[in-house]
Amino acid sequence: MTMDSPSPSAAPATPLAGIRAAIAQSEKIARRPAGSTTLIAISKTKPVEAIEELIAQGQLVFGENRVQEAQAKFPALREQHPGLELHMVGQLQSNKADDAVALFDCIHSVDRPSLAKALADAMDKAGRRVPCFVQVNIGEEDQKGGCAIADLPQFLDKVHALGLPIVGLMAVPPADVEPAPYFALLAKLARDAGLDQLSIGMSGDFETAVRLGATHVRIGSALFGAR
Ligand SMILES: *Cc1c(COP(=O)(O)O)cnc(C)c1O
Repeated sequence: MTMDSPSPSAAPATPLAGIRAAIAQSEKIARRPAGSTTLIAISKTKPVEAIEELIAQGQLVFGENRVQEAQAKFPALREQHPGLELHMVGQLQSNKADDAVALFDCIHSVDRPSLAKALADAMDKAGRRVPCFVQVNIGEEDQKGGCAIADLPQFLDKVHALGLPIVGLMAVPPADVEPAPYFALLAKLARDAGLDQLSIGMSGDFETAVRLGATHVRIGSALFGAR
């Protein structure tokens, strides 16, 4: 059986297999290179055993949204599985910057000058450079984290001046509306800024995100079940 022409009736053996196949199919439809999307398994609230199960299926990239929870779960896992990669996808307090830099391999939620400065200082101190995404409040929602669209150029100038390794933009579009226009807008903002990575797409909309250029999709419930 080839991965790119599954028979329509063949149900995937696991949620992970189904999501991998759907990502591959979306890459193909968008004429993107196979494997150009990184699947981040978002394991927040899920026990170590559930993470182990995915590792056994070959999934090595995980994401968490709280520093403390990640600290409780991942150091032991990493000892057993040295290839693990851990991404921070939640709002981050500046006073957790040192812990975050020590623990994570990528931070998706850089959204304000105070945090950018704290992360830059923490990276200097630790002698460790952690790639970062700037999170954009793409739906201009009051409650949501992320840099305002209007402030983005200025904020990017600031993070570049601080020497933060910024690789792309991240966003969580408004719930319950068609996400494609928001993904497309984020892609345009990234292009305008000369950034080539896009962290977009969750359980409900990752195929759309991949078609619109996601380099990282962040998938929780579709992999692990409802939280
Ligand atoms: C929880 C979370 C996800 C995963 O959401 P699902 O709908 O469960 O796939 C993705 N991104 C962020 C920032 C999250 O907090």
